[in-house]
Amino acid sequence: MNRRGLGGQIYGHLRLFSALGVRYAGGAPGEKKAPAAPRASGAAAEAVAHEAAAGDAAGTETLEAIRADLGDCRRCALAATRNRIVFGAGNPHAALMLVGEAPGSAEDAQGIPFVGKAGQLLTRILQAIDLGREDVYICNILKCRPPGNRNPQPEEIAACSGFLRRQIAAVRPRIICALGAFGVQTLLGTTESIGRLRGRVIDYGGIELVATYHPAYLLRNPVEKRKVWDDMRLVRDRLRSP
Ligand code: SF4
Repeated sequence: MNRRGLGGQIYGHLRLFSALGVRYAGGAPGEKKAPAAPRASGAAAEAVAHEAAAGDAAGTETLEAIRADLGDCRRCALAATRNRIVFGAGNPHAALMLVGEAPGSAEDAQGIPFVGKAGQLLTRILQAIDLGREDVYICNILKCRPPGNRNPQPEEIAACSGFLRRQIAAVRPRIICALGAFGVQTLLGTTESIGRLRGRVIDYGGIELVATYHPAYLLRNPVEKRKVWDDMRLVRDRLRSP
């Protein structure tokens, strides 16, 4: 690598550290390689493979068509308490797709994902790996806010997650970054903890998946910022790989 390239890489590292509030960068250059990629569990892998195949056969479904199908959705109880459906936002052909959990109060009010405090932190994290919000596609497992930001319930995930899978098939990202436990557990059909799933590349029906902590969790637990830095560096490196 030439000096200019190395300098740019170091600058990028420092920006990401700054965004995450990490003061000590010791050990970062000597990162470990990600372990061998595990695979999505049977049902989840079959689901995405089936949807990808359906898209191939029928002409890839557009995000607009999926949104139209969602309509004024009343498929689960969250319809009664939401203000706005938060479908997703960003580049419909993005190489990186970010999948969170569910809208919060700011998102529920605006109909746009990740616009509250956690969203602002996510924007800074993306900027630190040289990406803008317009470069990525962002959505959630649930399209409606659970009252009081409680955890999503299994029946709500069951009712809504099919739309997420269709969004993934439509965008066809190169990498999915799952933000928080619910996102990665829903996609992989597992109950394994985010602590065990993060920090590595997982095969999701031919798409690389990297899980990390949700920005809202990061705001409450700043001690985990260093791990998010490691995960986002992995995402950045996979995006830059040939
Ligand atoms: S959370 Fe999903 S399934 Fe439930 S009402 Fe909203 S859009 Fe429909």
